[in-house]
Amino acid sequence: MQRSASSGPGEYLCDPTEGVSSAADLPFAQVLDLSRDFEHSPCPRCGTSAPRLRRRVRELHDLGDPMLGAPRRLRVLLSQHRCPGCGACFSADVADLAPPRSRYTHRVSRLAVRLVAEDGLPYRPASWHLWRDHRVFVPFATIQNWVEAAGEKKLVGRGSRGLPGSGAGGF
Ligand SMILES: [Zn+2]
Repeated sequence: MQRSASSGPGEYLCDPTEGVSSAADLPFAQVLDLSRDFEHSPCPRCGTSAPRLRRRVRELHDLGDPMLGAPRRLRVLLSQHRCPGCGACFSADVADLAPPRSRYTHRVSRLAVRLVAEDGLPYRPASWHLWRDHRVFVPFATIQNWVEAAGEKKLVGRGSRGLPGSGAGGF
């Protein structure tokens, strides 16, 4: 018989995906369709209004849904343009969603950097935390790249200061 005390709040339950080794056994991802599809878009190089050449889809991993325990993917329909002025080829701007060439949204990279810089988590536990609590899989090496890039930005912005020390109080 189970002890009744084990059903109270704060009961320890291991993550249901612990030990899962096949993607087919993971909860279904929610897919959100977004559109950044424009007939014309200003050229980032010379400002000329450039017509749409074609469309493509860019997939981004976002923070998952904690209620469903499911990962979330953004599927962004993008227009691609060629500038009639200078010949530059470019895609519609998604800077509000994700950094250039990233497979993850700003939400994911910012949270990952906070886990390391503010909470003092090492890269591997930070990677596990993102999966366990936010259902987004980020290799720890990717987190390391983000943290180092964030540290460099801070170095540039604030003289010789690097990332804040971990666990340095002041909450
Ligand atoms: Zn141009």
